[in-house]
Amino acid sequence: MQNYRPTHCGICDGMYTPQTGVFCPASIPGNKIIKRNPYIVPSTHRTYIMENIIVTGVPGLPLIRAGDNIAAMICERVNVEDGDIISLASTVYSKSKGYTKPLAEITPSKRALRLAKLNGEDPRFVQAVLDASQDIIMEHPFILSELPFGHIGVRAGVDQSNIDDDMVIFLPPDPMKAAAEFRDEIRAITGKTVGIIITDTCGRSFRRGQTGHAIGWCGFTAIRDFRGDTDLFGHELKITEEAVADEIAGFANFVMGESNNGVPAVLFRNCPSWTGHDNLYFSKKEDITRRLLKEACPS
Ligand code: GDP
Ligand code: MN
Ligand code: MN
Repeated sequence: MQNYRPTHCGICDGMYTPQTGVFCPASIPGNKIIKRNPYIVPSTHRTYIMENIIVTGVPGLPLIRAGDNIAAMICERVNVEDGDIISLASTVYSKSKGYTKPLAEITPSKRALRLAKLNGEDPRFVQAVLDASQDIIMEHPFILSELPFGHIGVRAGVDQSNIDDDMVIFLPPDPMKAAAEFRDEIRAITGKTVGIIITDTCGRSFRRGQTGHAIGWCGFTAIRDFRGDTDLFGHELKITEEAVADEIAGFANFVMGESNNGVPAVLFRNCPSWTGHDNLYFSKKEDITRRLLKEACPS
């Protein structure tokens, strides 16, 4: 355990603790905006240092098969410290747990046959998507559906890449539990307590291109809640909830790449801590996009 020594800030007259990453913005040398800011009060010591974050793709992991102990494989390849965050691609987690299926074992229903024709896809693949879905929000030009754990994704996140021919990979059925178990496994091996993010690459509304999203996490809140905080000019923030887990997942996805990079795990060191909540998914009532899509696309 580190010995945290609070230090006096000569500018705002408060105390701050550099060792915890909690510091006073008024203490940044040359930070003219902040020095001129009349609203600097000790409460701004809640600000966090975002420097020297180290991001490491875990090198040399083999092709993952059912039964593989990914936690052990990661700990053999990188040194893990308390407070690190490990981001793991759902694809490899699912392969290690056997959440996969040969297309040959899937019999398409009438609906799967209809949607396969409509969207030009393999009916067995479409059936896998329907099986993974709790609610179909849109059928065409691609299936958009809600999974039982709350995530809404294109083709229910069912993948056919980075696996043998004619196989599908499902998202983990309970990614929050998966993250918690993965953290326990890392702790059992190393004695270190880390945060975990299980990621998937997802498309977005309104913009071209896919990014990494957090579908399961533990060790921190998915949202960093800025509501009630004040900006540099003392204005109170009323609606800002930063989706930190998704931001980290996005950068992890950048390190992983999408094709044959072979890097399904990424380690983050020196991330500061934050406070917030885990209500990442809108409720059905709040989710305007979901409602309008459902209304516009009756099945
Ligand atoms: P998803 O985003 O979870 O659907 O996973 P991707 O298929 O995009 O893969 C993410 C990263 O993991 C890429 O760098 C892949 O090359 C890598 N990857 C996928 N499967 C394996 C595997 O079995 N072993 C290794 N070493 N890397 C893999
Ligand atoms: Mn995927
Ligand atoms: Mn991906």
